[in-house]
Amino acid sequence: MLKIGCHLSSSKGFVSMGRTAVEIGANTFQFFTRNPRGGAVKPLDLADIAAYRDFAAEHGLFPILAHAPYTLNCSAADPHIREFAHNTLADDLSRLEHIPGTLYNFHPGSHVGQGLETGTALIAETLNAVLRPDQSTTVLLETMAGKGSEVGSTFEQLRAILDQVEHRERMGVCLDTCHVFDGGYDIVGALEDVLEKFDRVVGLQRLRAIHLNDSKNPFASHKDRHEKIGQGSIGLSAFAAIINHPALRELPFYLETPQEEVAGYGQEIALLRGLYRETSA
Ligand code: FE
Ligand code: FE
Ligand code: ZN
Repeated sequence: MLKIGCHLSSSKGFVSMGRTAVEIGANTFQFFTRNPRGGAVKPLDLADIAAYRDFAAEHGLFPILAHAPYTLNCSAADPHIREFAHNTLADDLSRLEHIPGTLYNFHPGSHVGQGLETGTALIAETLNAVLRPDQSTTVLLETMAGKGSEVGSTFEQLRAILDQVEHRERMGVCLDTCHVFDGGYDIVGALEDVLEKFDRVVGLQRLRAIHLNDSKNPFASHKDRHEKIGQGSIGLSAFAAIINHPALRELPFYLETPQEEVAGYGQEIALLRGLYRETSA
């Protein structure tokens, strides 16, 4: 069965997100671990988490994807900004151990003029300071569109980060379809070649989740503006090929499309389920 969900607001807690997911036909979901722009974090509601774990087991909501605030910059030049990123990642990872086996996605960072090599080294340095060999969470580097000085817009850059991380067995990659398309990987015309390249450079075994987003901009625009599924320059037939591809079809897929209401995600989920070919294995 297609494992698919969307980004949900975490303001009412985990049970509420789980219920919303089930209501819209999702069997997973993504949420921000805290305000995406940073700032104070609410204390953990352990009763909500305990009830959520029962609910998730009952409804097969596993794994779910936690997304770090997108303002974190592990490769900032300012040490205070890096320290904030370090503290946030460490705190999120300790909280996520209450929901074992969760995926935790973050944007690697922006090197802000220091160059890719320094940026990459700083990201790996932060990861080496926060990853624990016994953690149950898998930390995912998200593929980026290459806006400004973003690190992680090529498969080689992701590989360079992973190569410098000691506990890289606790890590993986989340491929965002809008970002890689905007970043210059032709998942519309040459999906096979892109996946072959990913396998050669990073290894498909490291690919653990997919963000499914259409793009408002043309190929290789380095822009990062998400569009609703089938309404952008990626298009519905490319999404059908992606969710059915033998190397991808068992992965969890997460919608981050510009929907005003969760019902809109429900419609996209139904659309994609309709395009998914169940195998008679
Ligand atoms: Fe993201
Ligand atoms: Fe994304
Ligand atoms: Zn994006």
